[in-house]
Amino acid sequence: MKTSKYKRIVLKLSGEALAGGEGFGIKPDIIKNVAKEISEARDLGVEIAVIVGGGNIWRGKTGSDLGMERGTADYIGMLATVMNSLALQDSLEQLGLDTRVLTSIEMKQIAEPYIRRRAIRHLEKGRVVIFAAGIGNPYFSTDTTAALRAAEIGADVILMGKNNVDGVYSADPKLDSNAKKFDTLSYIEVLQKNLQVMDATATSFCMDNSIPLVVFSISEDGNIKRAVTGENIGTTITK
Ligand code: UDP
Repeated sequence: MKTSKYKRIVLKLSGEALAGGEGFGIKPDIIKNVAKEISEARDLGVEIAVIVGGGNIWRGKTGSDLGMERGTADYIGMLATVMNSLALQDSLEQLGLDTRVLTSIEMKQIAEPYIRRRAIRHLEKGRVVIFAAGIGNPYFSTDTTAALRAAEIGADVILMGKNNVDGVYSADPKLDSNAKKFDTLSYIEVLQKNLQVMDATATSFCMDNSIPLVVFSISEDGNIKRAVTGENIGTTITK
């Protein structure tokens, strides 16, 4: 029987993972499928913390490009991640998993505030923890959130599920037929080659804190579980 390669993981999903083909909004049937995959991975015994982005609803940068004040636009983005987190929590709980949403911006009526030691306790008790509202500050991304929280909770790895790409390529494979997929990379190569993996803040944070990252496709059924077992399905980035 397959077992988990890791004791504790951070699973980063972009908001688009909850939106289906249109890339916009929250689609319950799509989320159900993601939840099922997380549940199967959880059955391997790994402790799972999930971070969902908000790009299926709102990105701060888009708002600021259209003339909004950046801080306000980013707070709207953080609220979008809370909506996604609640939707994912609902699907996970319908499958019988025990979950907690922890928010970096206090909203006690709907979720617990983020407290590092409490997050770790939930994980030890087998609960799936969902980190919402990013790090709680504008000018950051949910990729940076994944990196920061992974360091704080002592996760072994960040598993980054991408929507329509199965790893990191030398160029956009949809635009360049010569684009080459990397099996492994170092963070410094990602920065030097300006590869589109995460923003530079998140990349340098992972490099400085030696947090490994696996980029893989969530479009294929069973891939979250495969990534958890350490199967070579995407690109692994290490220090
Ligand atoms: N955001 C932020 N601070 C954070 C995390 C997120 O300001 O710590 C805002 C930012 O505006 C971002 C939006 O929330 O555009 C949604 O997050 P992200 O773009 O990372 O979502 P994804 O692309 O993963 O769906």
